[in-house]
Amino acid sequence: MSPRTAPAIPTRRQSLSGWGRTAPSVADIWRVGAESEVDDVFAKLGGKRAVVARGLGRSYGDAAQSAGGVVVDTTALDRVLEADLTEGWIRVGAGTSLDALMRMLLPKGWFVPVSPGTRYVTVGGAIAADIHGKNHHRDGSFCSHVTRLSLATPGGRHEVSPGSDPDLFWATAGGMGLTGIVLDATVRLLPVETSRMRVDTERAGDLDDCMARMSARDHEYRYSVAWVDCMARGARLGRSVLTRGDHAALDDLPARDRDPELARRFDATVRASVPFTAPPGLLNAVSVSAFNELWFRKAPRLRRGALESIASFFHPLDGVGDWNRLYGPRGFVQYQFVVPFGAEATVRTVLERLSSQRVASFLAVLKRFGAGDPGPLSFPAEGWTLALDLPVGPAALGPLLDDLDRAVVDVGGRVYLAKDARLRPELLEAMYPRLAEWRAVRERVDPAGVMSSDLARRLGVAGRARSTRRRTPRAGTGSGTRGTTRSTTRSATRGATRRSGAGTGPTRRATGTGSGTEER
Ligand SMILES: Cc1cc2nc3c(=O)[nH]c(=O)nc-3n(C[C@H](O)[C@H](O)[C@H](O)COP(=O)(O)OP(=O)(O)OC[C@H]3O[C@@H](n4cnc5c(N)ncnc54)[C@H](O)[C@@H]3O)c2cc1C
Repeated sequence: MSPRTAPAIPTRRQSLSGWGRTAPSVADIWRVGAESEVDDVFAKLGGKRAVVARGLGRSYGDAAQSAGGVVVDTTALDRVLEADLTEGWIRVGAGTSLDALMRMLLPKGWFVPVSPGTRYVTVGGAIAADIHGKNHHRDGSFCSHVTRLSLATPGGRHEVSPGSDPDLFWATAGGMGLTGIVLDATVRLLPVETSRMRVDTERAGDLDDCMARMSARDHEYRYSVAWVDCMARGARLGRSVLTRGDHAALDDLPARDRDPELARRFDATVRASVPFTAPPGLLNAVSVSAFNELWFRKAPRLRRGALESIASFFHPLDGVGDWNRLYGPRGFVQYQFVVPFGAEATVRTVLERLSSQRVASFLAVLKRFGAGDPGPLSFPAEGWTLALDLPVGPAALGPLLDDLDRAVVDVGGRVYLAKDARLRPELLEAMYPRLAEWRAVRERVDPAGVMSSDLARRLGVAGRARSTRRRTPRAGTGSGTRGTTRSTTRSATRGATRRSGAGTGPTRRATGTGSGTEER
């Protein structure tokens, strides 16, 4: 079809990046307002452009962007379609955020079954990454609580449940948006008596101590997580603050707070926002070591039964808008991996390498996963998972992470694609050994390979890049950003951090329940 006869499509050309603000690329954004408009996307594009969905842009790397393609902004698909708050389930549009669900459901005594470290993710994004929370050891990941979903694919719509089409359901769970666009989903909810948490905190002197404490007693708590001081070395390597808790019952509250309505009130506000991108190097070995020292000492050695709000227990970072700008114009990567139980030495190796090379991680979080769910690309698997936020900049970072990837793969571990911006493609299959099985299901619903993203092309997730690899005109807004679908094999730590006016020009970013897209 010549450009003259092509149907007009309501898109806006824009530069997009993930939460880590590395490797932006230019795409046409198509904001859909209703489920039927998603069918229009496929019909009007006729398979000639790569398509991928985007939620609130909280994946760290390049999963929700597509250089030269069409990125479908799903955040307006945010209606409640059906609910049974006696049985405890809700059917919502895929663009509904977990923040909106909490605001709606907590006052009625229900909570989401799995919450990540931010509330600003959509249900579609939660399914595509099969997200996990601090309760994975107890409750598994998000898709274990999804009973059905409606999926728009280039070939048509599918109504999918784990019973009706298990292959497609589980290929979509953790499939990073590459099987189609989730339109709506039904999610089972967790009953709660209050919107408060009953929390135990304790310090662990080193990594072995932390792991021993988690292994011994995590099963007593629904939620468990350890913050690790990854700048500590020698005998203090891996010293941590362990925080574990459960939803507080009415009886756990002081008598004056036991009014059920008051007890279930959900207060969560953004207290401050980072107004501009910080200068490079603000978060460095010195500043992070000083912060970590303070944080470790501030934590109680042992405290039992403290009451905390849901927001401060689950989403402390959401209190500061645009905190990702603190990492400066080059952004940051989150390195999250899982290794099986028995491979504790690999976690130690990672911490030793980071601390000895003085690679600063402001945030390092250790959790224990329970058994994974059946998704071939779902990240969680039984074992230890460590997540580290690392500023892009030090030349040593890329080679160091490449080495750590090999250490992880050698013991049967993997990195989390929703956080990734820099993995080498040759390791993907070793990390996700059921990739071929996943590709076969995807081939069934998208034989022409229309669903694609920068992540998919960088790693060859769906196999070789296809006919959608065409040059597109450079966007006026994006000089220096990637305007073609070709260059996506360069990664965040290997130099693909070119961006237009990074750090110098104004950056407008919608946060909170906004679109999560960026305009520069
Ligand atoms: C501060 C912070 C803390 C986090 N903590 C955790 C954590 O504890 N556990 C965890 O698992 N993750 C965590 N994450 C990652 C986050 O939960 C996932 O990346 C999630 O996918 C983001 O959802 P989103 O709506 O922003 O999706 P986006 O980032 O916009 O997209 C992510 C992926 O989902 C796909 N997608 C989005 N919507 C749809 C749809 N409707 N249909 C099909 N595919 C779709 C996209 O194509 C893309 O592949 C955290 C992220 C941040 C920023």
